Amino acid sequence: MTTMKVAVLGLGIMGSGMARQLLAAGFEVAVWNRSADKAAPLVEAGARIARTPGDAATGADVVVAMLADDTVSRAVWTGEAGALAAMANGAIAIDCSTLTGGWVAELSGLAEARGLHFLEAPVTGSRDQAAQGALRFLVGGESEVLVNARPVFDAMGSTVVHLGPVGSGATVKLANNFLCGVQAASLAEALALIEKRGLDVELAMSILTDGAPGSPLLKAVSRRMIDHAFEPHFLVPLMAKDLGYAGQALTEAGIVSAIAEAAKARFMEADEAGHTDRDIAAVIQPLRS
Ligand code: NAP
Repeated sequence: MTTMKVAVLGLGIMGSGMARQLLAAGFEVAVWNRSADKAAPLVEAGARIARTPGDAATGADVVVAMLADDTVSRAVWTGEAGALAAMANGAIAIDCSTLTGGWVAELSGLAEARGLHFLEAPVTGSRDQAAQGALRFLVGGESEVLVNARPVFDAMGSTVVHLGPVGSGATVKLANNFLCGVQAASLAEALALIEKRGLDVELAMSILTDGAPGSPLLKAVSRRMIDHAFEPHFLVPLMAKDLGYAGQALTEAGIVSAIAEAAKARFMEADEAGHTDRDIAAVIQPLRS
């Protein structure tokens, strides 16, 4: 049996864990990242480092991207020395980044015109799930393509959900992060209120985390807020981006929402206050000052 060749484009918090899982599963892996230093530990683990996205994609059966946003995804797939132009006919392009439905649909069309197969596969789970191969993939695209890409998903995640055609994954992922972002922003306001009133923070928070609002997100993020533990699982500006994309999706569907915009403003405030490289828990920091 020949070993499947996989390229990973983007070695941030999520992409580096995903590439490591692919190596552990025995795939032949090529990696590319804008900041090449992040590739070093993966090269030590057996990956080939590529100079450009196109270099990584050359000869790959499957190319997986995990990048910041629409603009970066567009540049890496279609820009100078981009991945799409370099891929072999019939290969599979997968974008796992959190993107807008509009860009995902355009990218799918560009891949098809190039003679490639395409899946969108945004993920739920965070830094730890990426490192452990325990992500959940929200796939949009054709079932037959998913069957062929399945071994790659199985190496990086624990669950693969096929939601429908291209665009369905983006919709559900943005709905997911809309709910997460709104919870984190309102948690920041609630905890800041408890702190400003001088209450016993642990006792007061236990009422909230053990009660009806006590979601997994509330439990995890409130702990990080209380402990001032801002080492990133998910970065402040990326949550602002997702809330912006979710607001855009709501508007496009004719749903007037002030909530996504208000939550986004909280994350923008934290970003502008210098918490750019910190975990989303740092959204509370401007409210403490
Ligand atoms: P990250 O650590 O900030 O990684 C972002 C990646 O994008 C890095 O490889 C970065 O390269 C690259 N990038 C940024 N700007 C670029 C540019 N102008 N040109 C080329 N490359 C650029 O973020 P992450 O947490 O891994 O997130 C990646 C994607 O997954 C995002 O779409 C995010 O919304 C989504 N996501 C994240 C989580 C999470 O919990 N972290 C969970 C689900 C989904 P450099 O290393 O050179 O900066």
